[in-house]
Amino acid sequence: MIKPLIQGLALTIKYFLSPSKIVTMQYPDEKWKPYPRFRGLHELQRDEDGKEKCVACGLCAEVCPSECISLEGAENAYGERYAETYEIDMFRCIFCGYCEEVCPEEAIFLRQNYELATGNPKDNIYTKEKLLVPIKKKAMKKSSKKVKKKINKVYSYG
Ligand code: SF4
Ligand code: SF4
Repeated sequence: MIKPLIQGLALTIKYFLSPSKIVTMQYPDEKWKPYPRFRGLHELQRDEDGKEKCVACGLCAEVCPSECISLEGAENAYGERYAETYEIDMFRCIFCGYCEEVCPEEAIFLRQNYELATGNPKDNIYTKEKLLVPIKKKAMKKSSKKVKKKINKVYSYG
């Protein structure tokens, strides 16, 4: 009982007396590098033409054990389904990854961003605008003017 206590204290004193041997991470100056399979903030995907992949099937919301996904589907002018609204309550999400696994369109992935702390309680809701990846410059270049116009019209990007 006494021996482990002394060993622990000795270790503490050793590091206390040698500040150059810092063992704690100096966050936020020093960032933690997540493991490859780490599940962080969600990301809604686009296809190579910049169109949203989500078809608002609702499977992710159905499978979510925390019931923290809510979405509303709609049809665009071409009869294609998409998520008009898509929200995740990050206070309730347990980052299990079920939404990612069940998605038939590979439209949602949990990425490695773990800096989700906020001082504003209203920031817990991540809307589609926050979750959707921006249109890649390459896709914008590749897409014809007609396609760009279609994307903007269909999803009301302005
Ligand atoms: S990671 Fe799990 S808890 Fe979070 S939104 Fe997806 S299914 Fe729900
Ligand atoms: S993210 Fe995937 S599973 Fe969820 S509604 Fe969209 S297409 Fe369906």
